Amino acid sequence: MNAPLSPSPVDHPPGALPPNTVVVNHPLIQHKLTLMRRSRTPANEFRLLLREISMLLAYEVTRDMPTELIEIETPLTTMQAPILAGKKLCLVSVLRAGGGILEGMLEILPAARVGHVGLYRDPVSLQAVEYYLKLPRDISERTAIVLDPMLATGNSAAAAVDQVKAAGCQSIKFVCLIAAPEGLKVFHEAHPDVTVYTAAVDSHLNDHGYIVPGIGDAGDRIFGTK
Ligand code: URA
Repeated sequence: MNAPLSPSPVDHPPGALPPNTVVVNHPLIQHKLTLMRRSRTPANEFRLLLREISMLLAYEVTRDMPTELIEIETPLTTMQAPILAGKKLCLVSVLRAGGGILEGMLEILPAARVGHVGLYRDPVSLQAVEYYLKLPRDISERTAIVLDPMLATGNSAAAAVDQVKAAGCQSIKFVCLIAAPEGLKVFHEAHPDVTVYTAAVDSHLNDHGYIVPGIGDAGDRIFGTK
């Protein structure tokens, strides 16, 4: 017998989501995300899909990076050509599932520095508890892109950004794969200045703080630990 139908990801009407939310609903991303959602997708395929989606998200999150013109010589002539300017990047992976997004992002942004924030979710209070923090010393001079596949309650995301701000960084973006409306609200209340880039906004959180329909436990699916 088929399992009962669970709610589909919903289209959220304009204005229903906090203003700092960018839903990157490119068809390639949506297709790959559907393959990831399937419970029968094995860990090796899941990781590959996450890596591919992360590269596409990297493209979107860097869309507003400034460029400047420099003079170069092509084989035919000299020209003024654009290169990236402005602040350098730091990718901040929220352990452990953030590592899945980090891999794809580094493919596109190989010069970025990398920081790590270790947080676990207290299973009763659902509050984030920090156990590790390592950020580049010059993070205050960089734009930080904080990475965590699931923005669920919003508590871990907000706590990770708290740490990045406490280290002096003022230019921060947040990238996830799936967000819950409840988590987006919590995150916006804590950090209205930080734009959230997500491939989907799902229906709701269940009583255990999991996103429905979601993908299940992102860390377990990436690392095959279940
Ligand atoms: N963390 C996950 O890995 N999955 C969820 O659905 C929520 C939080």
